Amino acid sequence: MPELPEVEITRRGVAAHLTGQRIEQVAVRHTGLRWPIAADLASVLPQQIIHTVSRRAKYLLMACDHGVLIIHLGMSGSLRVLSEPMAPGKHDHFDLLLTNGRLLRFRDPRRFGAILWWPGDICQHPLLAGLGPEPLSEQFDGKVLYVRTRGRRVSIKEALLNQHIVVGIGNIYANEALFHAGISPLTPAGRLGVKRCERLAEAVKVTLLRAIEAGGSSLRDFVDCEGSPGYFQQQYWVYDRANQACRQCGRPIMKIRQGQRSTFYCTNCQR
Ligand code: ZN
Repeated sequence: MPELPEVEITRRGVAAHLTGQRIEQVAVRHTGLRWPIAADLASVLPQQIIHTVSRRAKYLLMACDHGVLIIHLGMSGSLRVLSEPMAPGKHDHFDLLLTNGRLLRFRDPRRFGAILWWPGDICQHPLLAGLGPEPLSEQFDGKVLYVRTRGRRVSIKEALLNQHIVVGIGNIYANEALFHAGISPLTPAGRLGVKRCERLAEAVKVTLLRAIEAGGSSLRDFVDCEGSPGYFQQQYWVYDRANQACRQCGRPIMKIRQGQRSTFYCTNCQR
C-alpha cells in the first residue's frame, strides 16, 4: 500500500509534467472506485489548466481553474505519464489527456483509490477538513505531539496512526519511527513526556524523509513506464522482520497485534 513517501514521490514524479498544462480530454473507463468517479468529470475538466500539484496527507491535489481534482492511490493505485497514446490495460481506469499530447494514466487493480472533483475551498472538503498536521511541516513537532496525545490512553503506536493527531503515518513508518526513537509501541500515548515526544517527532520526520530520498531515484520512471511507479523497496529496521535479529542489538524482533495492525519492535532497544 502506498504510504506518504510513495505518494510524495508520485507527486514529484507527475508534477513536473502536469504543472501549467491544459487538460484536453478525460477518459473514464471504470467509475467503480472507492467512491464513484463523477459522471460529469469528462465535461467539467477539459480546457482547465492544472496550476499546481500538491499533497495533503495521502491525497494528491491538482488545483485547476475552477476547482481541485483529488486523487487517492488507495491500496494499489499508481499514476504514470505517457508521451504517446498506448492502449489502456484492464486496470487503467482513468486518463487525463493534456493539450501538449501527454497523458496522465491512473491504474488501480484493487480499486480502493479515488478520483474526486471539488469546486470549492479544498480545506473545507469533508475528507480533509478534520485532518491533523502534516508530519514534515513546521506544524508538527514534539510539543504538538505532546499536546495532542494528552489524556489519551491508547498506545503511542495507535496514536501515530490516528489521522487527527498527525496525518500520513501508516503502519510501516509508525513501526520504524518508534524503533528509531527507542520507544516501546505499547507505551500509553498520554504517558509520553515532552522529551520522548520530541525524540519521536524527530524520528517520524527523519524516517519519512529517508524513505522519500530512497524513492527519489525512481522519479524518471514516471514517464512511459510499464510497472507501478512510486513503489520502491526499502530496507526496514523492524517492520516485517518478526524473529529476525535486531539490526542494533541482535535480539529477535517481536511481532504483536495492536488495533488489528501488526506491530514489530525490539524489546531491548525500545522501552
Ligand atoms: Zn534491539
